[in-house]
Amino acid sequence: MTAHPQTKPVFRPSSQLILILVFTVVGIIFVILQRQWVLRNEEQFAPYTLLSQVQKVQCDHCGGTGLLKGSNGVQVVLCPVCFGVGSHLVRKTGTADVLCPACGGMGRLIDARTGEARFCKRCGGRGLITTEPAEPPK
Ligand SMILES: [Zn+2]
Ligand SMILES: [Zn+2]
Repeated sequence: MTAHPQTKPVFRPSSQLILILVFTVVGIIFVILQRQWVLRNEEQFAPYTLLSQVQKVQCDHCGGTGLLKGSNGVQVVLCPVCFGVGSHLVRKTGTADVLCPACGGMGRLIDARTGEARFCKRCGGRGLITTEPAEPPK
């Protein structure tokens, strides 16, 4: 009887490795080309790329700690402006969006009259206001 060791297809790791390498290289080239293309056409993507422009605004009222000393100076209370978070995330949706000058981007502020925290009426609690473009769009 003659032995036939070749019963199963031989697994060649070298060919698979080359395949993975080729896919990796093609993937890298694709990413680079895509990035260059996106950069070239950035103007068209502006509304989408700006959507991801999230800015963290530190709460001025509590200094970003989210906590305030109570009226007796000992008790610690949550900051009424940021609800104890210490910061507020604002999402710019366009170049005309700027931080609200009234609340500094927090969306909430301490009412000068009552001394109570309230939502900012200027930006509607968004923390951003949309300024009119200086030049009319072409
Ligand atoms: Zn605060
Ligand atoms: Zn505001």
